[in-house]
Amino acid sequence: MLVGGVTGLTTLDYPGFLSVVIFFRGCPWRCSYCHNKHLQAVSSSESLPWEDVLHLLKTRVGFIEAAVFSGGEPLQQMHLPAAIEDVKRMGFRIGLHTSGAFPERLALVLPLVDWVGFDIKHEFENYYDITGIPESGFLAQRSLNMLISSNVKYEVRMTVCESLDSLAIVNAFKGIAAQGVKTVALQKCRDENENIVEHPIFSDKVLLEDISKRFESFSLR
Ligand code: SF4
Repeated sequence: MLVGGVTGLTTLDYPGFLSVVIFFRGCPWRCSYCHNKHLQAVSSSESLPWEDVLHLLKTRVGFIEAAVFSGGEPLQQMHLPAAIEDVKRMGFRIGLHTSGAFPERLALVLPLVDWVGFDIKHEFENYYDITGIPESGFLAQRSLNMLISSNVKYEVRMTVCESLDSLAIVNAFKGIAAQGVKTVALQKCRDENENIVEHPIFSDKVLLEDISKRFESFSLR
């Protein structure tokens, strides 16, 4: 397990639950706006031992409700199902952040998780423009279909970077509404200095209404 870091307490990463977030190293995609670029490469040199993570979690039993597996792309870890089992045995709820790069591995962990934050990047046919990987949209669509068909609670969110056209954003949300998604969020992008990168869609009430009317829950953040 290549763990890049752990945050001890957060209320943002698993809505409604006080959580610990475990950040795993490695991601096959190269999104231009990635906020965790230092976690993209698979490197074991600076990884925290998994036993240390479990030890930290043990000290949080009774105070923290959930553990969120994040990254990078946590499904890049071959042994993620066993790691989730380790954490579940301590009584934590399990959250997973994923972009859907590994549909087969997502199928293995869905029975183990309680909630998924699923990131979409673009209209699926145009994922390459953001990720730089030709098949990424196909993989994400397969993963999202699997998630929708499961009984696992989830939120689909899109981080809006400068290069995304407003109509492409609306079309992406129309597409996932047609797939059956009910809960979504539109997120502002931040640069490497944590400054918000403004996008015109956040002040376009007509387009925001066009998105929000298609879902049971729509958040801006
Ligand atoms: S999928 Fe996520 S972790 Fe991977 S490069 Fe894109 S934003 Fe970064």
